[in-house]
Amino acid sequence: MVKRNPNIGRLKAGYLFPEISRRRREFAARHPEAKIISMGVGNTTEPIPPHICAALVGGARRLGRAETYSGYADEGLIELREAISRVNYNGAFGPEEVFISDGSKCDIGRLQTLFGPEAKAAVQDPSYPVYVDGSVVAGAAGRENSFSGCEDGDCGGGGYGGVKYLPCTPENNYFPDLSRIEDGSIIYFCSPNNPTGAVATKPQLAALVSAALRTGSIIVYDAAYSEYIRDAALPKTIYELDGARKCAIEVNSFSKSAGFTGVRLGWSVVPRDLVFSGGGSVNADWSRLTATVFNGASNIAQYGGIAALDEEGRREVRELTDFYLGNARLIRGALKTLNIGCIGGDNSPYIWARFPGRDSWDVFAELLEKYHVVTTPGSGFGPAGETFIRFSAFGRRADVEEVCGRLTAH
Ligand code: PLP
Repeated sequence: MVKRNPNIGRLKAGYLFPEISRRRREFAARHPEAKIISMGVGNTTEPIPPHICAALVGGARRLGRAETYSGYADEGLIELREAISRVNYNGAFGPEEVFISDGSKCDIGRLQTLFGPEAKAAVQDPSYPVYVDGSVVAGAAGRENSFSGCEDGDCGGGGYGGVKYLPCTPENNYFPDLSRIEDGSIIYFCSPNNPTGAVATKPQLAALVSAALRTGSIIVYDAAYSEYIRDAALPKTIYELDGARKCAIEVNSFSKSAGFTGVRLGWSVVPRDLVFSGGGSVNADWSRLTATVFNGASNIAQYGGIAALDEEGRREVRELTDFYLGNARLIRGALKTLNIGCIGGDNSPYIWARFPGRDSWDVFAELLEKYHVVTTPGSGFGPAGETFIRFSAFGRRADVEEVCGRLTAH
């Protein structure tokens, strides 16, 4: 018999979203008359805008003609890599530093293979689950605690040896204490943040880059929600900061900007300046790894991506993200009426609501029972998420209005 990978067994019970679905189904079985509305997940709901969608159709048609047919595109179509560099990074990267992928979650998983089982992870707490769970699958949980800070019980509820949690709470304005980062860590940092909706300022990111350079760490900067930033003073990419190309990889995608959650298209930037402790090139290893375990993103999707980055596509992305930010405004307004403290929703599609002293699964259950609304319990994102609830602005407008009406009518 084949032995089970012990690291899979080390994952904490039930991935968050299947557990939420289970509870929703159980409630629906008890209350078949209830119209349940979900404000829990980060899945997009609005159609792909026409110009970008036409490019996807055009991409499919190209495959049906001998003159335009294409097969594997390896690290991605050169036009797309150049457009990403030009539009998102002022042309600061050559195409060989931009790798096209099937999404940022997939890239994060592959990056964890790149760094291997000995890598120490430092994660914002709360955080998007793949940073911790992917590190555990890669082997981080199987080791003895390697962090000096773990004796105080802060290395994660249950103690994943190779994963250091960096609490982000109202007390530190949702920005972690960087002095806790150990030498040679992989620092997962997400801004705008899922789940808190907090966006790091330029001075905060400058401090993060300094901490990474000081400790010889690599930042995996997840900018999946960068298109939601409206405040011009807030950085949209880690590469706005001096020194970042020596210590940071950035992942991003078209999922939340162009509605490509089901299309699947993303990218990673791995600068040539980034090196491992022995001096080896991270870019060269990433190129080798992606060529080994990944055969490139769909070329249909890539034509859609190119269109999302031209003038008309940029206008459509702006309109689409404005729509979800409009939902976020409504949710914030309803929470304000109820005197529930929250952050996020202004430069991000997530609103992080505070329920001091409450267990977040209890608040989740109460919102489901009383208002028939599905949310996400904060504790599912890490120990510091306890007492919080995440509201997602991804939803149809009529549903958001109905939820806000239900919440404020009581
Ligand atoms: N990063 C963050 C912070 C996310 O919230 C999500 C999806 O919800 C992703 C990455 C995954 O995006 P993709 O669809 O590009 O895999």
